[in-house]
Amino acid sequence: MKIKCPKCKKNAELGMDFSFVKCDSCDFDMSYGEYVKFVAHNETKYSDILGDYVGSTEGQSSGSLDEWD
Ligand SMILES: [Zn+2]
Repeated sequence: MKIKCPKCKKNAELGMDFSFVKCDSCDFDMSYGEYVKFVAHNETKYSDILGDYVGSTEGQSSGSLDEWD
């Protein structure tokens, strides 16, 4: 699954099992949990988008991430 890299804004790859996020355009390489925290802490506009997800990660694994582009 392609998502936007929080570092270079190009396409990064989200693992099918949401276990990792990697970007070929820069050296971004984190677990999905770290990625969510990284984005939330560094991008105000993204923290708005992720707010619901970050606040309700307990008991959830994937959520409704299909909406991501
Ligand atoms: Zn990148």
